[in-house]
Order: sequence, then C-alpha cells, then structure tokens
Amino acid sequence: MPTYVYEFAEGNKDLKALLGGKGANLAEMTNLGLPVPPGFTITTDACRYYLERGQLPEGLDRETADKLSALESRMGKRLGQPDDPLLVSVRSGAPFSMPGMMETVLNIGLNDESVHGLAAQSADERFAWDSYRRLIQMFGKTVQGIDGDLFENALESVKHDRGITSDVELDAADCKRLVQLFKDIVAQQTGGGFPTDPREQMDLAVKAVFESWNAPRAALYRRQERIPAEAGTAVNVCSMVFGNLGMDSGTGVAFTRDPATGQQGVYGDYLPNAQGEDVVAGIRNTVPLSDLEKLDKSSYDELMSIMATLENHYRDLCDIEFTIERGKLWMLQTRVGKRTAAAAFHIADQLVDQGMITLDEAVTRVNGDQLAQLMFPRFDESAERQRIGSGMNASPGAAVGAAVFDSATAIARAQGGEDVILCRRETNPDDLEGMLSARGILTSRGGKTSHAAVVARGMGTTCVCGAEELQIDVANRTLTSPDGRVITEGDVISIDGSSGEVFLGAVPVVSSPVVRYFEGEVHPDAEDADDLVRAVHRIMSYADSARSLATRANADTAEDAARARRMGAQGIGLCRTEHMFLGDRRQLVERLILAETQEEQEAALASLLPLQRTDFVDIFEAMDGLPVTVRLLDPPLHEFLPDITDLSVRVAVADATGADAQHDRRLLEAVQRLHEQNPMLGLRGVRLGLVVPGLFTMQVRAIAQATAECVRAGGDPRPEIMIPLVGAVQELEIVREEAERVLREVGDEYGVTLETPVGTMIELPRAAMTAEQIAPSADFFSFGTNDLTQTAWGFSRDDVEASFFSAYLEKGVFGVSPFESLDVSGVGRLITTAADEGRAARPDLKLGVCGEHGGDPASVHFFHKAGLDYVSCSPFRVPVARLEAGRAAA
Ligand code: ADP
Ligand code: MG
Ligand code: MG
Repeated sequence: MPTYVYEFAEGNKDLKALLGGKGANLAEMTNLGLPVPPGFTITTDACRYYLERGQLPEGLDRETADKLSALESRMGKRLGQPDDPLLVSVRSGAPFSMPGMMETVLNIGLNDESVHGLAAQSADERFAWDSYRRLIQMFGKTVQGIDGDLFENALESVKHDRGITSDVELDAADCKRLVQLFKDIVAQQTGGGFPTDPREQMDLAVKAVFESWNAPRAALYRRQERIPAEAGTAVNVCSMVFGNLGMDSGTGVAFTRDPATGQQGVYGDYLPNAQGEDVVAGIRNTVPLSDLEKLDKSSYDELMSIMATLENHYRDLCDIEFTIERGKLWMLQTRVGKRTAAAAFHIADQLVDQGMITLDEAVTRVNGDQLAQLMFPRFDESAERQRIGSGMNASPGAAVGAAVFDSATAIARAQGGEDVILCRRETNPDDLEGMLSARGILTSRGGKTSHAAVVARGMGTTCVCGAEELQIDVANRTLTSPDGRVITEGDVISIDGSSGEVFLGAVPVVSSPVVRYFEGEVHPDAEDADDLVRAVHRIMSYADSARSLATRANADTAEDAARARRMGAQGIGLCRTEHMFLGDRRQLVERLILAETQEEQEAALASLLPLQRTDFVDIFEAMDGLPVTVRLLDPPLHEFLPDITDLSVRVAVADATGADAQHDRRLLEAVQRLHEQNPMLGLRGVRLGLVVPGLFTMQVRAIAQATAECVRAGGDPRPEIMIPLVGAVQELEIVREEAERVLREVGDEYGVTLETPVGTMIELPRAAMTAEQIAPSADFFSFGTNDLTQTAWGFSRDDVEASFFSAYLEKGVFGVSPFESLDVSGVGRLITTAADEGRAARPDLKLGVCGEHGGDPASVHFFHKAGLDYVSCSPFRVPVARLEAGRAAA
C-alpha cells in the first residue's frame, strides 16, 4: 500500500507529481532549515483514488491521525484544544500551478470553545473572533458550498450598522456578532450546521480540496493550459501562523528578482497586521517590501538572506509568501516564479554571468514562445496610456483601430482603408470575413479555446478574448469600461494581445529591438545595445552551436530570401512558384489554359519561361551558397482564373449590351471545365505535371537556366527541385526522368554540369506508407505537414478552424489545433515511418520539413527526435526554430 501522507521533512522538491508544487517546495524549504510552520502533505495519489472511487483510500485515516498527533506533540498542543488550540490551514497544491483556481481553508480547529482559548493567548480577543468568523465564512463557502454573497451581505450590514467601511475597523463585539450571523447562515443553508469537531473540520476540508480539482473553472483552466486532467491535487495541512496579531505582525509576497524585467533587487508587497489572503484580495493597500526594513529590520534581514538561499538553491527566480507573527518570520510558500518573456532572457543571461547555471541550462530556461513574443511590435511603454480593462491574451501583437461591432462594418471600413478592431461578445463562423479584415479582435466572452481565439491565432491576428469587465453592447454599438466610460463605433482603441490589456485611443507602436537585432540593425556589442538584445544574442549563439537541426525558411521572393537569411535561415526549404503566375502574368496563364493547339500552348509557356528564370536568378543570388528548394507548381489551375460569379456577370452584361464577350465566354467555359467539388484533392501538384504538357518542363528549364546563369556569373547557386503531392513512386519517376533530361540539355547548352537534386514532398499518407518504394527515386523528402495533417485527419484546413475547431478544443478532442502543433501520435507516426523506411532504402536521403509546424516549438522537438536534417518555416519564425532546435539538443 502506498504512503499517502508525508511530513514536510519527508518530501523534497522533485516530488511534485506526488506532493504537488506547494507541498514539494514546503518540504524542500523545511529541509533547507528555513522557518516553515510544521505540517504534512496528503498525496495526489489519495486525491486520484478519492475522485475515481468516491471514497478515501483505506489507511489514509490512520496515516492522517498519526501525522496529526506527531504534529500535535511537536507543537505542544492539540488541534482545537479548548484552552490553547493548534490551528491549521488546509491548502490545495497541484503538480502544476493553477493560481487561484482551487481552495484553501485557514484557521481550522476553532469552535465555540477553542475560540476562547485562542482569545486568551493574545491581549485582544478581537483577533480570535475575527479568525473564527473567517473560518466559518471560508468553510461555509468552499467546503459546504454556500453562496459567498450571503456572508458578504451579512458583513456589509454589520459594517453599515456600525457606520464603518473597512474590515479592520470591526471590533471584538462585531466579530462575535458576525460569528453568530454566519452560523445562522450555515444552519439555514445546510440544515445541519457548522461542524464543531476539529478533526471533522479538517477531514471535510481535505475532501473539499480534492473535489475542487473537478470544479468547472479548474477543469476549464486545465484544458486551456493543457494540464492533464488526471494529475489530481495534493493537500497540505500546515500549522497556522498569524500575521494579524498586531503591528509587529504582517504578511507579504516577495520575488527574488523583478518578474517583469529580471532586474535584481527587492520586489514585493507587505501588509502589516493582516492574514495571507488579504494581500491577494487587495482589501487594504500594501506597502513596498523595502519598507519592511524600517518596520522590522531583523525580519527583513532574515528574509533577504532566505531569498538569497532560495535563489542559490533553485538557481532561478523564486516567488515567496511569508508571514511575520510578532516579529518572527515564517515561510509559507515558494516556487520558481513566473516571469515575462524579457525577464526570462535577462535572468538566464544573468545567472550564467553569476556562474549559477551553464549556457546549456540557460537555453532551457527560455523558449520559442517567449522569443516570438519579444518579436512582436509592441506598445510604447513610455507613451501615456489609458487602460480601460483587460481580458485574456489570446493571440499576441499590438493592434490599433476604430472599434466596430459587426462584421459588415468591419469589412466596409477596412475596404475604405481604415484600421478596425472588431469587438464582439463572442464570435462565430459568420464573423469570419470581418475577422479577416480587422487589425485586432476583442471579445468579452470565451477563453483561449473560444472561436475568436482559435481563429485569430490561426490567422496571426492580435486578439484579446474574454474581457468580461468590458461590456460589449452589439445592438447599441458601444463598449463600456468598468469605470463607466463609453466607447462608440469609430472611437479608436488599442489592444495588446500579449498582455490582454485594452486602451483608449491610439497607443504608439514601436518595433521590437529583438527584430532589429535579427535584421542586423542593432549589434549586440554596440555600446548602446540594450541588455535584452545582448541576452538574446548570447543565448541564440549558443543554441546555434548546440543544435543538429538546420533551419531554413519558406520564401518565394528575393526580398523574403534576404530577410530570411538575416534571420539565420540556412537556405530555403520551400520556394513556392505559384506567385510567379500571378499579377500581370495571369494573362499568360489564361493563354496557357485556353490554348487549343500545341503551338498556342508552347507559345504561352515560352513567354512564361524568361519571367520565371529572372525570378529564380534573383532568389539564387540572395541565397548564394545555400540550398533553395523550389517546389514545382502546386495549386489547381482554376485558382489563376477569374472568379466564376464575376465571369458569369461579365458575360451576361456583355450579352445584354451587345459588347464583345468572346474572351470572357471562353474563360467561363474553361472555369466550368476545371471546376472541382474538392479542389484540394483534385488536379494539383504532380498531377498537373503529368496532365498539362510542358508545364513542369518549362519550370525545370527556368530553374536550370537560372542556375547556369548564376554559375557563369561566378555565383554558387544550389537549387533543389521538389515535386508536390506525390502519392506513388511512378508519378515521381515520370517527372524525374523529364527533369533530368531538361537539366542535361540546359547544361550542355551552357557548358556547365548541373547536379540539381530532385526530391519529393511527403504530404499524402500513401506516400508516407510507401516511402521505401519512393526513396530510391528521391534525393530528398520534405514533409509537407500542412497537407499531411489535412489528409491524415481528413480536415479541410481552409474551413475547420473557423467552423468546428473551437468546439473540438472545448470538448478536449485535442488541446491544440493539429495545424498549429504537430499531432505527434498520428501525423508524427506517418513521419517517423516514412523517415525510417526512406533512410533504410537510401541512407543518404535528406529529410526536411516545410510547413508552419517547422516554426512551432513542440513540433521542432519532435522533428529533432525523429532525426530530420532541417525544418523550414516562415522567415519570422526562423529564430524560434533555431532556439527550439538548440533546446531540443541541449
Ligand atoms: P494559493 O495557492 O491560492 O496561494 P495558499 O494555500 O498559498 O493558496 O493560501 C492562501 C493564503 O493563506 C496565502 O496568502 C497563504 O500565505 C495563507 N496561508 C496558508 N496557510 C497558512 C498558514 N498555515 N498560516 C498562515 N497563513 C497561511
Ligand atoms: Mg499561495
Ligand atoms: Mg501541400
């Protein structure tokens, strides 16, 4: 039978899964010899057992009794002992931080008798009665499930009767009265009453903490933060210390460094004569922690030295809850603290300087999401800002625009060239167009998996969701802040998708110094370079030296290629060629599609050839010396033709007015002929190469000629030709033979040898499952994870995010969109199968990934483990991929 109860001294910080974060760290502090009020922890095992079977595990009762009596003899008093009671807190503590989500009950052990005993221990009996009324209130609310407002209302009425406004002004008589009123509420609401037996109080509180694991808000939070639902919570029973015994007592929170900037110094808040919860509840104004030095020098000095001990021990920023009882300092909690993205880089950098961690560890202390956050433009912090409220930071960025309250207005105003912020109570698929035309999206309802949040992240649009304190009235087109300010349609607002804040007016936006650094505009060794840039540079350099995955970019213009290179791309992993058929060139594509004779067709292709060649020359020059993987045309041809409705209208109008519509009519026929029910599964990719004569040949010729020209000009072009949407090796063989013929022909013409690799994308399940057959004909595989996800799940990626993904996320089918982060167990398996079988058939096979997953932190770790050679993603994500590849290898 497992042990279900651990004394603090029996645990340590590595037992988080069993003892929860709070319990493990209380144990660690106890063993470091720090002043922790004694107590014990009931394990998450016990919680899981209880939640699964609805009863406590056998033996728990006995173990709890043993640990309690050990605690009692150590403290020299019994729980609830009438003349001098031991009181305890029953505190939840999950393995993952879930701030404010679960319950804690203080002052357990008080009843009608022991309250007198406690009163006798201090000069003023108010303290005892105040503690008692707090217990009944907290216990009633969290353990007995009574509506908290009932207690609040009673409290208000007592204060009103006495003509006072704050809780501190309540005297002993008031508190006694409240105890009676609260007991009446409990009796009324439960039919029973407030339990007077101290052990029963404790046991009920323990069960309530267990049950709070499944409270709706906790379950929702877990789903949003991807915390496993089966982890369970531990319960800490901790002897009470009192910060509300007078002015020589108090309670506070502290950080060993500034969690906002990472700066070293004294950070925290202190509240004299108060119990722990008062600080968080913001009932009274706190003083800065540094003031404690004047109030109680010896506790202050001890706290400073404990903070140094904790930092040295955890080798990281810690946050702390402490209480001072009559000049004696007690540590109530510590953990490695949350911090902003900038602070994470600063702290990692400083800790290396201080010799506390190695660079290897430093890269693990930051992550790609934090780096990405630092790369977004942000609001100028030195500018004056009028904050009107906040919600959840659903999709990062800083957006400024006119507030609009419906999709149609968003579209209309955006078309008129105005920046708009779409404000909705919540969004649904009908809002999609409006969301697309908005700079930012603000909702007052829904969490990080709501429709608005999911779609905004998918589109890369700034979004603040669930800003409940802002009243959004769509009918009247107004937004009202908690302090009553009314924003009407057209008023400019600014939303910060990284912090969740909403501001009135246009807050100036500044570009990120980190991006300027990656762009080569600021140098880390320059005298005026900021510390953040220096820290990022140091950590990135180390990540680069550690990683085994190369990072390439998806880029299809020389400009993007150059930017990608500055961002650290080691080549292009995906150069799409479709944009080379757009703009003015559409006409040529139309000619190609409408061609009736072979001559017409050849002529159309011949006029596209030089244009493509120049495009390639520019890109090869920008990426000189580095590989450029060019994908032959992928999308269905009808995408290059006008919209079918537009065309029909044009033809109809021409017919009515007697104008010449011959060209349009032929186009319309072509569009109808090419129309497919399911174009993403239709005539595209390699299928075009096999069916449209001359198309791929022209593209290969353009690549070959561009390469030869660059070589002649003294350059070092390194193209790779990539065939999309291959499902069978035969398709690849046909295209490959023709490509090799053209490469030889052009090579002979120019008198250069062209050793251009020809490879394939693996983006259909069939290709992945027949990798062994395909590999001998492919110089490389590049996993097209967007299409592979689409085809493996049968999800249309253009539709699902806006239609049912938020419901799927809400129901927990998956914790994150498989288009955002690779589905390791399904799509990932296709990738490892193809990689392993491909390499078995052809050991020198080069393996890469193109698709947005190449810049997603979790996916990069998977690709590293799968043994791929490189990932490729959009230029802006390249730094993220570099960092994560370094972390994966570190
Ligand atoms: P949370 O996880 O929400 O921070 P805690 O269990 O830390 O909840 O407790 C809530 C508040 O009660 C904190 O401010 C904490 O300092 C205080 N507290 C908890 N246990 C004790 C105790 N034994 N003595 C005094 N204060 C306590
Ligand atoms: Mg706490
Ligand atoms: Mg594809």
